Formats: sequence, structure tokens, C-alpha cells
Amino acid sequence: MLYNEFKIIEKYFNKIKTKDNVIKGIGDDCAIIKIPNGQIISISTDTLVEGIHFLRNISPIDLGYKAIAVNLSDLAAMGSKPKWLTLSLTIPKINTTWLKDFSQSLLKTVNKYDMQLIGGDTTQGPLSITISVFGYNFKKQILFRHGAKIGDLIYVTGTLGASAAGLAILQKKILLRKKNIYKFLIKKHLHPYPRILQGIALRKIAHSAIDISDGLLVDLRHILYESQCGADINLNKIPVSNILKKNFYPKVWLDWALNGGEDYELCFTVPEFKKNILKKTLNKIKVPYTCIGRITKYKNKFNIFKNGKKIKYTINGFNHFKKNKN
Ligand code: ADP
Ligand code: MG
Repeated sequence: MLYNEFKIIEKYFNKIKTKDNVIKGIGDDCAIIKIPNGQIISISTDTLVEGIHFLRNISPIDLGYKAIAVNLSDLAAMGSKPKWLTLSLTIPKINTTWLKDFSQSLLKTVNKYDMQLIGGDTTQGPLSITISVFGYNFKKQILFRHGAKIGDLIYVTGTLGASAAGLAILQKKILLRKKNIYKFLIKKHLHPYPRILQGIALRKIAHSAIDISDGLLVDLRHILYESQCGADINLNKIPVSNILKKNFYPKVWLDWALNGGEDYELCFTVPEFKKNILKKTLNKIKVPYTCIGRITKYKNKFNIFKNGKKIKYTINGFNHFKKNKN
């Protein structure tokens, strides 16, 4: 069977019947959606380029999942509920096995989050995937980066650093003999969970939030910059899984936790008087979370503490243009 762009779309991507609020999905010049009364739409786009955002040998199943997960993480960070997405797919050639695996994994994830694929673009070229996601929120409940207030407690969900460890394994930078640990860490890298429920739960509690894609300190710095404040961070409180602590030197796992990217956990700030409601709310949805420090008045400044003493620490998270700095 001879494939062209339209057959690819029909066969692999146009699978879902139009759902609520989608007036027109795939198949016309634009998708048309209706916005419910009183709500706003959050929009976010992420591009994944082969060799930059994913390794050449990644399976289409993992890629289909991760492409959506990283986009959903941005909606989670603003407390928005995912609704729709568009997919711009650039592929070097038509490989039907690859397309089948990729589209099935992608659409499975789309269904899991009760979303609908409403459009996109299909072109030929070096493998690259751009997804835009659209979600709902209420205007007054959006979790901005600019909302942190002096005295807020700083929290992160889950644990940090395992994704960076998984990447180091995939890049063959480290060798591990223990098969189950090896698998656990690689899964952490390839299969991050976007903290959608957590983001929604934080709507009326957090002053500000961001998702950790480039590294805890680099991402928290965005909150500091946008909110014109600083942060005291207690290194003893950084949540790191026992698997990392048991298998690597402290210097290594701490660096992964502070500077490694792609954990896709949430970092958020909460006024102290909401500590109890935070506990009740996050315990109800069974989310581990840890207080790692406090917002200060010192603009853009980190004070890093270890064993109660202030120490010097270099921030070194992911930056695409690091090597090209003028
Ligand atoms: P146009 O030429 O008008 O831009 P296209 O031929 O690119 O339209 O796309 C036809 C329809 O298929 C449109 O509704 C578009 O949104 C959708 N579409 C194209 N590529 C994809 C894709 N990879 N996934 C989902 N929908 C797609
Ligand atoms: Mg087009």
C-alpha cells in the first residue's frame, strides 16, 4: 500500500470520535473547540528533537508516551486540566511498524488523560515531534511562577535525580551490574509521570509552581526571578530515593537531584498558614512531598545550607545554548 501524508493521518492518528467541546477535530483546516463558561485555556508547546531530547535508539512506544508526558507536565505546573492536543510529526521515512507503535502508545496516553488529539501536521525530515497541549483552569486558580511571597515554604513532589541517573545509564556514562536497579532508573527517565492531579490539588493552596524539567535549582530560579525573591535551601532535605543513595556516592546523587533534569516533579511555594491544608490535600491523593526551604527577600539569591551551615554551591542545570554563549 502506498502511503501519503493523508493516509498516515487517517490510519494512525484519526482514531477518536469527537468528544465534548470539540466542534471539529482532525480533518479540516482548523480544529474548532468551545470554551466552557467561566474558564480559561492554558496552552503549552514542546518540541522533542532526535539526538537532543531523546536518544537515537529510543523505542517508538517510549517516545509516544514521553512526548505527551513532558507537555502535560507544563499543564500540571499551572494547575490546569488537560483537554486537547495537536501533534506535528516530522519523520525521515514511512516506517509502518514505527508509526503503529508510536501512534498506539501516544493515543493510549491521550485516552488515559481523557484528552483528544484534534489536529497537527505531518512532514518529512529529521525525526522531530512537536506537541501542543490545551487545558482548562479558572482564572483565579492558575499557578504562576510569579506568585511566590517572602516567607513561603518551598516544596517538591516525589523524589529527584533518578531520571538523570537513568539517562547516564542509557548514555553508557555509568555501568550498573544490578539489573532491577538499572531497569528502575531507565524507567524513571523514559516514563515520567506528569503531576496533573497534584497540580489541580494545589490550585487553591500554592502561591507559585513550576515543573522540574531542567533541574531543581535552575527551575526554582525561574520562580525567584519572576517573583523577585530569593530562597534558602536545606540540602539535607532534598528528597532522593534510597535506590540512588545506596548505589551512588552522595556527591553524585546530590548533583543529579539538584542539577539533573527531567524528573518532571513539581516545585511549588505555599504560605506557612496553609501547611495543614496542604498536608491534608496531598495525603488524600497519596502524593509524597517534601519541604526543602523557604522564600527570602534577597532577589535571585540562593542560600544553600548543609548540616545547618551555609555552603558554596554552583548551579549547573540543563541549558540548550550553554556552549554557544557569547
Ligand atoms: P493543511 O494542509 O490544511 O494544513 P493537513 O493536510 O496538514 O492540512 O492536515 C489535514 C488534517 O489532519 C488537519 O485537520 C490536521 O490538523 C490533521 N493532521 C495532520 N497531521 C496530523 C497528525 N500528525 N496528527 C493529528 N492530526 C494531524
Ligand atoms: Mg498542514
